[in-house]
Parts: sequence; structure tokens; C-alpha cells
Amino acid sequence: MTCDLCDAARLTKRYYEDDVCWIADCEICLVPMVVWDVHDPSPPPEVKEHLWSHLRAVADVEFADVTWTIDDHMRNIPDHYHAHARPPYFWRRGERL
Ligand SMILES: [Zn+2]
Ligand SMILES: [Zn+2]
Repeated sequence: MTCDLCDAARLTKRYYEDDVCWIADCEICLVPMVVWDVHDPSPPPEVKEHLWSHLRAVADVEFADVTWTIDDHMRNIPDHYHAHARPPYFWRRGERL
């Protein structure tokens, strides 16, 4: 079985990487997305906090002028934990609501 996040098509800009997670632009949404290195949908709280803290650091730079939110509803890949940083005024970059 293949998983897009495990394959981690490394085509997009990498913001951050360590031995627990990586952060890159989501290929679909084109917003920063943190991905856990483990193929599992439910990280323990301390891991989730690690992921979110690094996503916050990236998104606070990318979206310095707006209030963004963490979106970890996993619509397309429900079995591998990841979270998007969503700015308030668009769902996908360039697609205003
Ligand atoms: Zn996976
Ligand atoms: Zn996405």
C-alpha cells in the first residue's frame, strides 16, 4: 500500500524537517502542512504538540499579517497524521471564498 505522505513527494518547498516531522507546502492546498514521520492517524499529545509548535513557527512567518488556524481534519489521507495552517481568508491559496 502506498501513502502520499509516506512517499512524501519532495517536490514542494521544505520549510522544516527533523526526526519526528517535516513541514512543506501541501501539494493540493499550497499552504504549509506538518506531517508526522509515523504512518498513524493519532499521535500522542506530546507528539502533536511538537508538530504544532513547529507548524506555528513556520506559519507565523508565512502568514505574519493574518490570523491563521491549524486544520487537522484529514480529509484526503485519513490514516496518516498531518495538519494544515489555514489563513482565514482563503481555503486554498489563490482561491478566495
Ligand atoms: Zn503514510
Ligand atoms: Zn492540503
